[in-house]
Amino acid sequence: MITQGARITGLCPECRATLVYEVGQWIERGVLWWGSEGGCGRCAHGWCERNQGPVVTPEWVRQALLTAHGAARLSLADARTGLVPVLRALRAAEDLTIAAARARAAELAGTGLVGTLVEMESLARALRDRGVAVAVGPAAGTPRRGRLRPPDAVQRGRNVEGG
Ligand SMILES: [Zn+2]
Repeated sequence: MITQGARITGLCPECRATLVYEVGQWIERGVLWWGSEGGCGRCAHGWCERNQGPVVTPEWVRQALLTAHGAARLSLADARTGLVPVLRALRAAEDLTIAAARARAAELAGTGLVGTLVEMESLARALRDRGVAVAVGPAAGTPRRGRLRPPDAVQRGRNVEGG
């Protein structure tokens, strides 16, 4: 099972104590799900929610996963892939207009699509179901969305991340 989770902290909207949230995305019976769960240790405030579909995953959940795990990149494994099955798979998986699907297909054929690992694995399944060979790997070298440190904090000409 393909799943990814992250733990982040925030403030309780009721009593302002520190809250711990567990967020995640996973694929269940071929469908992408997301969830968030948290509870306050001081007051009774707590919740658990889950929903399906890449369109409705809240951006704060996506950003928490991208910050914790980095982004994944989905790319075509065969440069001779025809456009039609790619468009069909993208439109079915993401509920896109033809114009939006064409833009996504061009991006896929070019630099590749970037998102969370579960989102890219979910799209990869939709594409493979239509006979499109794709690969999912880490999106190394791309600026990570949701980065907590501003880029200009990195000194020029020095690799301060030790990697
Ligand atoms: Zn509270």
